[in-house]
Amino acid sequence: MKQHAIAIHGGAGTILRSAMTPEKEQSYKKGLEDAILAGDKILAAGGDALDAVEAAIRSLEDNPLFNAGKGAVFTHEGKNEMDASIMQGKDLMAGAVTGISNIRNPITLAKTVMQKSEHVFLSGLGAMEFAEKNKLQFEPDEYFFVQMRYDQLLSARESDRIVMDHTDKLENGEKKFGTVGAVALDVHGNLAAGTSTGGMTNKKMGRIGDTPIIGAGTYANNNTCAISCTGHGEFFIRSVVAYDVSCLMEYKGLSLKEACEIVVNQKLVKIGGEGGLIALDAKGNIELPFNSEGMYRAMKKSGSDMYIGIYKD
Ligand code: ASP
Repeated sequence: MKQHAIAIHGGAGTILRSAMTPEKEQSYKKGLEDAILAGDKILAAGGDALDAVEAAIRSLEDNPLFNAGKGAVFTHEGKNEMDASIMQGKDLMAGAVTGISNIRNPITLAKTVMQKSEHVFLSGLGAMEFAEKNKLQFEPDEYFFVQMRYDQLLSARESDRIVMDHTDKLENGEKKFGTVGAVALDVHGNLAAGTSTGGMTNKKMGRIGDTPIIGAGTYANNNTCAISCTGHGEFFIRSVVAYDVSCLMEYKGLSLKEACEIVVNQKLVKIGGEGGLIALDAKGNIELPFNSEGMYRAMKKSGSDMYIGIYKD
């Protein structure tokens, strides 16, 4: 049987060992492990990369520790407005949603847009109308209320800052980006990528980051790679990060490792774009580069043990 592989992330940023308690670290690791296993199970049974990506992301969306689905950060007005996108590499089909509320699993809505609409990208009320028509699961506002996230909003509002999830000197000096993502390779040789987020705490005026933008936060092409990003979205949009990694492989013949190094540690750094990405190529190579202090990340290849990482070392 051909090999399969999956990698996930739960956000990048200044994730310091000194700011972490053993219990907190354990919960994050357990969250990453559950998500990897949800995706790996599908791949091991011969399932689709797209379904594995969706399953891994749903698991992270259902976990309040991560900034997506339950646990999504609050906007300035105290709402949860979420973004998500998904793409499959065999035919470059993609689906994305932005500015949606009360949808339990935004990644499933993105997948439904891809599979059941003639469009790629739906926003706000229209996207929610589409969700209703397709019987997606809705949840009341209370489901999304997480005290820690609300406290983050109050502190961001006080200083009038728009804050990446767990960014810039929150209570414990910790800084990290939220957002979750997954990339997968199935036994049929197909790649897929997906990303889901609540965006930035205290975001205003309909701000949209890179997460739902195909080519910026998410990209998959069987000829090159599958990519899911996390970081300061404005920089990732300007750098068309996910597509750039794929282009460097396709047009310059670079390896996945070389392409990731150039995009994350050279080009993004040059313009001040903090964050990272997860990358998987059609041969099953995985790269998990980030230019921040840390990134919640995990990967598993068929026949190998799972790897889980948080810090730089
Ligand atoms: N990239 C996301 C955004 O800008 C944030 C993140 O990764 O935490 O909305």
